[in-house]
Amino acid sequence: MAAARADITILGAGVVGMATAWAAARRGLSVQLVEGAQGPALGASFANGGQLSYAYTDAMAGPGLWKQLPGLFAGRDPAFRLKLDAHPAVWRWGLALLANANSTRLRRNTLDILALAQQSERRMQALLDQHPIDFQHRVAGKLHVYFSDAGLEAGRRMLELKRPHGVEQVMLDAAQVLEVEPALAQMTGIRGAVYSPGEAAGDPWKFATGLLDVLRERYGLQARFGFNVASITPDGAAWRLQSAQGEALTTRRLIVCAGIHSAALLRPLGVCLPLMAVKGYSLTAPCGSQAPAVSITDTARKLVFCRLGERIRVAGIADINDWSTEPDPRRFERFLQLARESLPGAADWDGISHRWAGLRPSTPTSTPIIANLQEGLTCNAGHGMLGWTLAMGSAERALQVALAEDPPRLAGHGSMA
Ligand SMILES: Cc1cc2nc3c(=O)[nH]c(=O)nc-3n(C[C@H](O)[C@H](O)[C@H](O)COP(=O)(O)OP(=O)(O)OC[C@H]3O[C@@H](n4cnc5c(N)ncnc54)[C@H](O)[C@@H]3O)c2cc1C
Repeated sequence: MAAARADITILGAGVVGMATAWAAARRGLSVQLVEGAQGPALGASFANGGQLSYAYTDAMAGPGLWKQLPGLFAGRDPAFRLKLDAHPAVWRWGLALLANANSTRLRRNTLDILALAQQSERRMQALLDQHPIDFQHRVAGKLHVYFSDAGLEAGRRMLELKRPHGVEQVMLDAAQVLEVEPALAQMTGIRGAVYSPGEAAGDPWKFATGLLDVLRERYGLQARFGFNVASITPDGAAWRLQSAQGEALTTRRLIVCAGIHSAALLRPLGVCLPLMAVKGYSLTAPCGSQAPAVSITDTARKLVFCRLGERIRVAGIADINDWSTEPDPRRFERFLQLARESLPGAADWDGISHRWAGLRPSTPTSTPIIANLQEGLTCNAGHGMLGWTLAMGSAERALQVALAEDPPRLAGHGSMA
């Protein structure tokens, strides 16, 4: 059987799974890819914000979270929502998030993510030098725009934390912001920005489909799409994957890259992954007359704008503990309203081609879980807000861990394991 012949099986063909398949193939391993959908990157990776955020790696939980809590519970912040639930896993995750909401953890988690992001940037460049995949990749630069002095000060603190680690970021006042991106003249109330000139952007779906072609044509990757794994069980020295349709395959080495679904898949094996769905929305539309060329983060409305060729992608909203992948029409309308308010001329708002929602697989530390769970079974999941950014570096680490090239560890999860 083809499955038994592959050296390694990757479960999940999102950006993380595709990058992991590449990390295995480039080492000369024969790779099998197993995916429930009919193609790559149709889950959380499909229409994400497009930002390869190699410098902006700030963890979700920090001291500022405590101030946001009353607004979150009262539903006052249009960009955030919390679906309350009595399930103990939800409370465990929430308490673990709060345990990370202090400056010590914020610093540690942000620097952990930064190291992974820097590794991702290097690995992405190496891949593209070897195989120039077309996914509208470009170094667009990014402006993280602030509307208050307090916000700017918080931005400055994070910049100073990361600068000694080789991050290229500068503080700009409102006039300098317009020099970098004149299209921001339409945005009201700007106090200043953190400018990261080296930030990149690209279309994650195009990347995944392009990489799949390279892996199939040049590295003999075997891909099984439409194989929806219902269970993973030990089978002697191998792992058996049983599909919902009754098909089965075995493999000696398995890396689970199933995004938010990784927790449910691994729970029967006694593994408890601290993963929470944080639902977000995106839209893709033709560029408007004042579309920015530089990637923009509007910190007040918590939106990102990213130019992908002649299209603009806008992403935002964080609905914690919302597990439905269907876009809620009212939530989408609110998101669209925020986007139009933020940059009215950025897009042709009547020409929106994609209205999309996805579930960010989020951990309390914002760092992914890259670890050997049992002999021959490795996890590479939990990339939250930054999975597109972190995919290439995480893939490299997952292979190092799986092949014992590096001592196994639960990245950034010392307190969660
Ligand atoms: C609105 C939004 C905007 C975002 N913007 C950005 C951004 O600008 N920059 C950034 O870096 N990150 C961004 N992210 C985060 C990023 O998209 C995710 O972290 C990333 O896509 C996670 O990738 P993944 O491969 O782990 O998960 P997925 O893409 O969900 O892939 C998991 C795959 O596993 C498959 N699978 C699951 N269960 C099974 C099973 N039982 N059997 C077979 N297959 C299975 C799924 O079908 C899926 O294809 C954003 C996310 C959202 C929602």
